[in-house]
Amino acid sequence: MKYDYMIIGAGLTGCVLAERIANLLDKKVIIIEKRNHIGGNCFDYINDIGINVHKYGPHIFHTQNKKVWDYISKFTEWQQYFHKVIGVVEGKKIPIPFNLNSIEILFPKEFADKITSKLIEKFGYGLKIPILKLKENQDTELSFLAKYIYDNVFAGYTFKQWNLMPEELDYSVTSRIPIYISRDDRYFQDNYQGIPKNGYAKIFEKMLSNKNIHIMLNTDFKDVYDAITYEKMIYTGPIDYFFENQYGRLPYRSLEFDFQTLDVEHFQETSQVNYPNNYDYTRITEFKHFVPTESSKTTIAFEYPKDYIEGENEPYYPIPRADNQSLFDRYNSLAKELYGRVYFAGRLAEYKYYNMDQAVASALMLFDKLSR
Ligand code: FAD
Ligand code: UDP
Repeated sequence: MKYDYMIIGAGLTGCVLAERIANLLDKKVIIIEKRNHIGGNCFDYINDIGINVHKYGPHIFHTQNKKVWDYISKFTEWQQYFHKVIGVVEGKKIPIPFNLNSIEILFPKEFADKITSKLIEKFGYGLKIPILKLKENQDTELSFLAKYIYDNVFAGYTFKQWNLMPEELDYSVTSRIPIYISRDDRYFQDNYQGIPKNGYAKIFEKMLSNKNIHIMLNTDFKDVYDAITYEKMIYTGPIDYFFENQYGRLPYRSLEFDFQTLDVEHFQETSQVNYPNNYDYTRITEFKHFVPTESSKTTIAFEYPKDYIEGENEPYYPIPRADNQSLFDRYNSLAKELYGRVYFAGRLAEYKYYNMDQAVASALMLFDKLSR
């Protein structure tokens, strides 16, 4: 059989491209996936007590991009859901992103009122400020507050997560969770947010349901690609692996999950609790909160960040910082030479810390180019 496209990786990026190519261009697609399931890191399943578990960590769909929301909504109904995260700081539970309510919980009233007025006066209600920007402030109280937040919310969590301090990472990393001068406790303020009512895996099954799409699971593309006849390849795995690590390995961060089912109805009051300063894990997820499920038991996951080691664990995160970007740029020059025959897309092949909506947007953009 001859395929028009061979897609490496059945993650979100690979599935969106396969779906568009098969359904809109009526072309034949083969997907090669090394894991034993489709969906990549967005994969979920119903466990033995009936709870939908996100196998690779908590996934909340959120976007400002209506085109992306409408596209994904073709494959799922949504459970309305606003993600709220608690951080444990000095034994107190505070809203994360750090906001005016966090200040109220942590500080004596007089100081909290004063610093709140100062923040609103200086920046305006509703503004978001990255911690590294707030830290530049010279005002005595604001600089005290910035140091407090840096030390108690960002330093420990970031070091556990990346084995690096905030300054050693691209500014964009800690800017994902800016200080929010507001009393809105939601993790995201995007117009569109939710959890797929029947889970993420069902979205991927629907996307790949066209008979023009063939899927090979449990297969590393290097073991089969020269035995398959195809016109064009779309590669969504790690870019350095594609090029035999010839310039050296690009670093990625991995995770280890410790899933536990407990004989209690609820373990914590929200789906995600962060522990910036205590324990070796960064956060605990309780899946029941995403889509309300009746059960006298609950399932939780402790998240332990790890170095990525090829063949041993999965590359969950690119590590955004200048030297890694330079190394990526060298691989990307090689990728550009193959343009027209091989296309590189997604979080690993583009080495970009994409949220799901960004991965979808990037895949849809590539599809537009392919269909011209
Ligand atoms: P991937 O999902 O990594 O898919 C790549 C696929 O390629 C994988 O299935 C892999 O097995 C396969 N592959 C790799 N190499 C080979 C090979 N050699 N041969 C064959 N197959 C190969 N985004 C949000 O918007 N909201 C969230 O709440 C959120 N939470 C997250 C939490 C965690 C812990 C993580 C790690 C990510 C989170 N994300 C979240 C991001 C989201 O997971 C990604 O945006 C999305 O998975 C990217 O899809 P992708 O297809 O580009 O990459
Ligand atoms: N972060 C932090 N403390 C927190 C939450 C986030 O220091 O309580 C920092 C940390 O560096 C983290 C980054 O902000 O890696 C991005 O957080 P996000 O929740 O977006 O991470 P993800 O869900 O992608 O793992």
